[in-house]
Amino acid sequence: MDRAEYKAVSLYRRTLGESFDCMPEVLKRFHDQPFAAAANGTLRVTRGKGVLRRIAAAVMRLPKPGEQVPVHLHVHIGGETEQWTRDFGSLRLVTKQWLDRGLLIGSAGLMRFRFRLTGDESGLRFEFVRCWFIGIPLPFILAPKVNASASKYEESWWVHVCVEAPILGMLTEYEGKMYITGGIGSRWEGETFGSPFELPNDRAYTETCAAIGTVMWNWRMLNITGETKYTDLMETTLYNGVLAGLSLDGMHYFYQNPLSDRGEHRMQKWFGCACCPPNISRLLASLPGCFYSTCDEGIIVHLYPSGKAVLPVPEGGTVTLTQRTNYPWEGEIDITIEENSSNSISLYIRIPSWTRSAGIAVNGVLVDAVAISGSYAQLPMPPAGSTVRLTLPMEVTKLESHPHVLMNWSLAALRRGPLIYCVEAADHPGIDV
Ligand SMILES: [Zn+2]
Repeated sequence: MDRAEYKAVSLYRRTLGESFDCMPEVLKRFHDQPFAAAANGTLRVTRGKGVLRRIAAAVMRLPKPGEQVPVHLHVHIGGETEQWTRDFGSLRLVTKQWLDRGLLIGSAGLMRFRFRLTGDESGLRFEFVRCWFIGIPLPFILAPKVNASASKYEESWWVHVCVEAPILGMLTEYEGKMYITGGIGSRWEGETFGSPFELPNDRAYTETCAAIGTVMWNWRMLNITGETKYTDLMETTLYNGVLAGLSLDGMHYFYQNPLSDRGEHRMQKWFGCACCPPNISRLLASLPGCFYSTCDEGIIVHLYPSGKAVLPVPEGGTVTLTQRTNYPWEGEIDITIEENSSNSISLYIRIPSWTRSAGIAVNGVLVDAVAISGSYAQLPMPPAGSTVRLTLPMEVTKLESHPHVLMNWSLAALRRGPLIYCVEAADHPGIDV
């Protein structure tokens, strides 16, 4: 293998070797990016008690304790080194990673850690091996130990990091989680997130407002990063976490959206604390602004609603598009270019990560190798009068939760396209669903 080929293989792929390919798709995608990668989430941060531990955690610039600490992770990949920048609110933690004799080295300030990486179907684990302070190897008894793991959860992943020192004990620990519908917030008491892996189905709080907040957050993350994982999560939450909170006639609402119920939880006309109904109105009124984006290179199609859009292009003029589709019930979307005053821009179309073997045809002619799941397919903007047909096969997929979610033991969910299905006893008389 020559030098150029060597660099083209990502740091994590090189470290893990063949076991890289055994990991969940979502982790492979994140750790196989050529230039940069980004992720966001919410963390539960706890710290050990005692002044010494608190001082040590502060010196290492570890995040402050909190139930819902937002984190943004940006990975810059340059040559054989990756720079990981984590923003915990106003606190920034920057580390560098590289490979040394088969082990991963991570440096944070004056500290340097060596990890042994292992990967399999359940995820990725960082096992602490050794630690240095200003280049001096610390005796095991003094060294702060960092152990971490990442495992697949839905379209995203769980991260668990534990930092401890043999003398100081546990310094800090953080985790994050979400329901399969995109809903967040498990507990009714205080509208809180609850403990790690606490995801009850019948007692799920998952307030409609919280799902709306997730849509807004992912929309902003999409605008910053351009990554489809945010669009995917936005769409999942819109169809399953937000719309579930509104009746078909638009007159009744759910405040909480439990994932299972025995016929007692019903939609209401109004609530004393009336945050959810107007929040839905606000979101639906502003939603068309999330269907498309424009950039210097062209026009980006994020979501698939039927309708017409007139979009300004950077060099002046407009492009008018019409989408015709029966999405999300069917996966065929026709995008007709009604008007195009530019001939040098691209059309970017989102290919959701839940589909396999998506296809794009322009005026009935298949376009090769651009429709890759979990990416934006790029094609030259077709001239006015053209129709682009996007075909997203919607296989029914069985989904199982992380084994630590005990309430879901022996349960599975079904997904088709962007929709998570709910099995109702009303449709199956005489059967205890
Ligand atoms: Zn609300």
